[in-house]
Amino acid sequence: MPKDFDIVVIGGGHGGAEASWAAARLGHSTVLVTLDPDKIGEMSCNPAIGGVGKGQMVREIDALGGLMGLAADATGMQFRMLNRSKGPAVWGPRCQSDRHEYAKFVQKQLSGQDNLTIIAGEATGILIENGRAVGVRISQQGSVSDILSRAVVVAGGTFLNGRLHCGEKIWPGGRYGEPSADALSESLRSAGLQLDRLKTGTVPRLAAETIDYDLCDRQDGDDVPAPFSFLNDFVDVEQIPCWLTGTNEKIHDAIRANFHRAPLYSGQIESTGPRYCPSIETKVDRFADKTSHLVFLEPEGRNTNWVYCNGIATSLPTDVQDFMIRNIRGLARAEILRYGYAIEYDYAPPIQLHATLETKKIRSLFLAGQINGTTGYEEAAGQGLIAGINASAMITGREPLVLMRDQAYIGVMIDDLVTKGIAEPYRMFTSRAEHRLMLRADNADRRLTAIGRQVGLVSDDRWDRYCARRRAVIRAEELMKQTRQGPKSIWQILQEPQRRAEDVIADCPEPVGGELRTLHRRCAGAIESLVIDARYEGYLIKERTAARQMHDLDSRPIPREIDYGAISHLRAEARERLAEVRPRSLGQALRISGVTPADITVLAVGLAKASRQQGDELDSRR
Ligand SMILES: Cc1cc2nc3c(=O)[nH]c(=O)nc-3n(C[C@H](O)[C@H](O)[C@H](O)COP(=O)(O)OP(=O)(O)OC[C@H]3O[C@@H](n4cnc5c(N)ncnc54)[C@H](O)[C@@H]3O)c2cc1C
Repeated sequence: MPKDFDIVVIGGGHGGAEASWAAARLGHSTVLVTLDPDKIGEMSCNPAIGGVGKGQMVREIDALGGLMGLAADATGMQFRMLNRSKGPAVWGPRCQSDRHEYAKFVQKQLSGQDNLTIIAGEATGILIENGRAVGVRISQQGSVSDILSRAVVVAGGTFLNGRLHCGEKIWPGGRYGEPSADALSESLRSAGLQLDRLKTGTVPRLAAETIDYDLCDRQDGDDVPAPFSFLNDFVDVEQIPCWLTGTNEKIHDAIRANFHRAPLYSGQIESTGPRYCPSIETKVDRFADKTSHLVFLEPEGRNTNWVYCNGIATSLPTDVQDFMIRNIRGLARAEILRYGYAIEYDYAPPIQLHATLETKKIRSLFLAGQINGTTGYEEAAGQGLIAGINASAMITGREPLVLMRDQAYIGVMIDDLVTKGIAEPYRMFTSRAEHRLMLRADNADRRLTAIGRQVGLVSDDRWDRYCARRRAVIRAEELMKQTRQGPKSIWQILQEPQRRAEDVIADCPEPVGGELRTLHRRCAGAIESLVIDARYEGYLIKERTAARQMHDLDSRPIPREIDYGAISHLRAEARERLAEVRPRSLGQALRISGVTPADITVLAVGLAKASRQQGDELDSRR
């Protein structure tokens, strides 16, 4: 095995898989070091991809040429568009995945990828020279060796100093049955990075044959499953049902009676968990007046009897988990195959990163995924893709890729992380984006595929398909705007809330109607996306205007070496926060909490003055 690579990626989770695949596809000799290659692409928790906000990110990853959407389409067992009853800005594609097939698919893609070597081993340290990461020390079955590289991406997930909790029991691990990675934490810390602790938890898994499904409510997928990947026109899959049941007051009483034994309440777990994926003990505590909480029974695969109990993440002792399960409707006979548990792990507060995901302290060291304080496969994958692209850009001297808040949820997430930091595990929601109507799942290709092509990740096949869709959209828009039915154009008729797009197109006069129907037949998704543009045109215009104003501020750079102490009239709090985050632009500065629009005006004046002084100095030297 060569000892020199362009890029080393540590960790074969969802972040590391995207980072290494992207780096190798961009032509760099890449090595993925991971504890167990058979666990690459493993879903640590729920066997599902997507959801509200998250599904949009999967489509963005796909539009940029990433892996997750392809894996989800190839291995999904049930597809649903969440939030369908609300506006299209918040529709979130989600699928129930066969977790074994999902991991196998990712492993196959990575192992078949040119330029990519996969090594089973533990990365125990980052090699640093002159403030720059130059490689990784690895340990393989007790033997230690060094791999040299020009960039390093760390995507170690929940494994860094991971400690599992179930009742009073605590043991080291990165996930159930897998070791923790403690040495890497130590190495990052001694390199000067600050690390803190976060927590997450998972649910009990049950044996399918011991569940009384006739006592549960059936939940089917959509009639027509919508693919994640823009490379797929449809998903040809036999969908399987999930099942719904719920907790009850008897269970809640038992949980309350055992709070003193719950690691979350006994003081055993000290770190913060994800607010929006609370454990059942937290739900019982926080929503004391609720008499039942939903439990979704989700099969983990087509050829396994493991069933995931979505909704009851817990680290309560096993006897309390037994009682809880036995008392849920439909689960009286259920056999628990694995008890729920919680995990505490180290993460690096993301304020330490540039928007490229490179650390500010150590050049050519990038961090992606759960290590940056996020939670979720999609969040990790989005960061992994960007870290892989930017590690490559750094090596080749190309412009790094920083997606703006009006371009992608991935841009919103990274901007939030590096600008605001986190106080609890960060999960994507549509409410985090101020330009929701622009950032829809349906138009991710129109937002990002040209960028992915420029970066070099969009294949010819994907590009040709995108161009065909784009042409169809341009032609359809032209037809809709030019063709009148009575006093209004088709475009204006589509804006009437009570009109169904299918009816409008069906009623459209010939020959335009025929042409629109042909375009719709060939590129259904693209035309439906255009109809949404028509329907929300007024709001979109407003959003674009607001986005342009923010772009103006985002395009006004702040020099990296600026001394905020030298800017007169800046408030002390603003000075402190600006010096901590070191924003790259006035736009980013404005988004820092504790920095006000008035501070930005003062800063802008200070910057203009500094640049004038610099100009005068240059003139006087000439
Ligand atoms: C118990 C549990 C419950 C969870 N609950 C939820 C939830 O409810 N909702 C949710 O959205 N997400 C949840 N998650 C989080 C979800 O699994 C992660 O967000 C996601 O997997 C993060 O992806 P990642 O690539 O950052 O890291 P991971 O998927 O954790 O992958 C990390 C990879 O790095 C490798 N690795 C680590 N350190 C080293 C090293 N030193 N050397 C070599 N290889 C190394 C590991 O082997 C692994 O392959 C949970 C995770 C766990 C463990």
